[in-house]
Amino acid sequence: MQVPAPFVYERASSVEHALELLGKHGSEARLVAGGHSLLPMMKLRFAAPTALIDINDVEGLSDIGLDSGADGDVIRIGAMVRHAQLLDSAIVAEHYPMFAEAERVIADPVVRNRGTVGGSLCQADPAEDLSAAFAAVRATVHIIGPDGARSVPVREFHVGPYQTVVGENEMVTEVTVPVRPGGCSAYEKVERRVGDWAIAAAGVALWLDDDTISEIGIGLTAVEAPHFVATAAEDAARGQVVNEALVEHVGELAAQATNPNTDQRGPADYKRHLAGELTKRAMRRALIGAGAYSADETDGNTP
Ligand SMILES: Cc1cc2nc3c(=O)[nH]c(=O)nc-3n(C[C@H](O)[C@H](O)[C@H](O)COP(=O)(O)OP(=O)(O)OC[C@H]3O[C@@H](n4cnc5c(N)ncnc54)[C@H](O)[C@@H]3O)c2cc1C
Repeated sequence: MQVPAPFVYERASSVEHALELLGKHGSEARLVAGGHSLLPMMKLRFAAPTALIDINDVEGLSDIGLDSGADGDVIRIGAMVRHAQLLDSAIVAEHYPMFAEAERVIADPVVRNRGTVGGSLCQADPAEDLSAAFAAVRATVHIIGPDGARSVPVREFHVGPYQTVVGENEMVTEVTVPVRPGGCSAYEKVERRVGDWAIAAAGVALWLDDDTISEIGIGLTAVEAPHFVATAAEDAARGQVVNEALVEHVGELAAQATNPNTDQRGPADYKRHLAGELTKRAMRRALIGAGAYSADETDGNTP
């Protein structure tokens, strides 16, 4: 039987209370949200926090809503929103179909019923699907700590495998995603078996001005793309007229943004190739969804 090292268990009743408990228990304390990453690590003794601060009772962290702000409309997604909630959200699906596509292939219903958006981002697993999806849409992560609140672009949030900018006494409260018309998004993932982590996955969100790409975000996971993004591929696509040659070029540049490891999920070359192909497929489907492209224009390639 796998048994975690001893720890103190506390339940926070509010964000302020959670911060107070983090301060009280010091640098070896950890928040627990869905527990689907932290508890297995504790059972394997890869993690041995001296205190667990449960944030499941904290109100105001579990909603998804659309807000109008000075900088335009944003979708607000609370840190304690479960994967299953994101999968079922009509607001998110209307603006970004990519999230439901990504959520449908994250683990299984048991994990999706408990695992949270905040936990997924803070776990910072190099194969996390939501990290790539949020990077593609240029989300912002909102963090609170003893010195107040701060906001960090998701593309600056992860600083390495299992590492984020969240400080010892801080917590993530929500993620915001900018929305604007004229775009579409798609997510493509290849896994060894249903419910597994990605061998490689790509999320593409793009916006059009007639037949020209005005903005694009390309998120990649499990292939060691810096900050989960393919910026050179984005730069090559922005301002270009849509055609199959462009899709092919963008896919090749996305593959070049990766630096995958050879492991039990496959050789590095295969993963790099897959990242490029999945980028192309997601890009074609996003273009078709945005109305700029049709399956007839893909030269027989898989949309
Ligand atoms: C069998 C299995 C298969 C899976 N497959 C996939 C998959 O295919 N794709 C995928 O993307 N994920 C997958 N996951 C991971 C899943 O998405 C988890 O939900 C996620 O890793 C962690 O979310 P959680 O809420 O359970 O976090 P927890 O385990 O509770 O916490 C994870 C870490 O985040 C910290 N944390 C949690 N919330 C906050 C917060 N608000 N502020 C600051 N720190 C916080 C914790 O202290 C801890 O360090 C899988 C998990 C399992 C168990």
